[in-house]
Amino acid sequence: MRAVQLIAKGELRLTALPQPEPAAGEVLLRIEAAGICGTDRHLFHGDFPCQMPVTLGHEFCGTVVSGDLPVGTRVACDPNISCGTCPDCRRGRVNLCPNNVAIGIHRDGGFAEFAVMPSHRAHILPPNLPALHGAFCEPLACTLHGLDLGAPKPGERVAILGGGVIGLLALQLAKAAGAEVMLVTRQRVKRDLAVDLGADHATATPTGVLQIWPEGADLVMECAGVIDTVEAAPRIARRGGRVVILGVLPKGELVRIEPFDLLFREISFLTAFINPFTQSRATAMIASGLIRLDPLITRVIPLEDAPHAIASPPRAGEVKVIIVP
Ligand code: NAP
Repeated sequence: MRAVQLIAKGELRLTALPQPEPAAGEVLLRIEAAGICGTDRHLFHGDFPCQMPVTLGHEFCGTVVSGDLPVGTRVACDPNISCGTCPDCRRGRVNLCPNNVAIGIHRDGGFAEFAVMPSHRAHILPPNLPALHGAFCEPLACTLHGLDLGAPKPGERVAILGGGVIGLLALQLAKAAGAEVMLVTRQRVKRDLAVDLGADHATATPTGVLQIWPEGADLVMECAGVIDTVEAAPRIARRGGRVVILGVLPKGELVRIEPFDLLFREISFLTAFINPFTQSRATAMIASGLIRLDPLITRVIPLEDAPHAIASPPRAGEVKVIIVP
């Protein structure tokens, strides 16, 4: 079968591999669709540790060909395989498991014609769901965890920093929770898209948030992963507000935050990491059609084009590129 493998830092290859065999408790999937995530680019550049050589791709869905589930079942993959036995897993904090094995990072993933995965990490999709939508289950599950922590209430004001796929999914979840939502993105085309997706306001800079909401936001979702937005997030939260950091900064990167300000305005500063027990709700929301996904799909490409797409920075205005093998 054809697969896109990361051989070494900066070396990504479309290669021929034997079709994998499912072990006990696993399924073999024919991949229907797999999304390219910023993490795939970080892995390519060596900013994120992984097990090489590895077939990339952790946002994917497919059809069961053999193994532990009925042939023909369509599933979305939860790529995070926590160990279940460490102290963190035993207290329910599975996303913090130090032994977590992530499909597409530590073992072969979905940028291939076929992939194997544990059946207990497969979430069943409806037969009529567009394949491209199934590829959004994992990013939506991560975003849902962030929203769970931020817990927006109906009528609250939510500011979202970053107009990538995570920001645009967070926007839709916050609207579904009944909040008034503002998206902050430097790109005009993304501000227009945000309004089309239901945002009440869209602005180019964090300062723009305070021009529209002088008291600040009840909840700020940082979905960009850059120093500027992490530092700006508490500044645009209102007194008693909450900040949730979803964006990933490179390891070792430091930001300037003023604890005095956090304390005297009692700002809760939270972080959200991956998708603990949120994948089934994300899959259900996608199956129900509640989340608009088609406007987030910028390009659909074959496996042959994947190495170049991963090695290049995202194009202007691009939200999600999906590989269909
Ligand atoms: P993405 O598509 O690359 O979007 C990131 C957005 O950040 C861009 O659209 C850009 O917004 C904004 N941005 C970049 N540089 C900026 C700057 N200097 N100033 C202001 N905004 C800037 O990424 P994504 O897939 O949406 O993911 C967003 C972040 O969440 C990434 O850091 C990713 O690694 C992280 N993430 C975290 C989790 C988790 O479990 N916590 C899960 C998935 C992803 P504009 O160009 O629109 O301004």
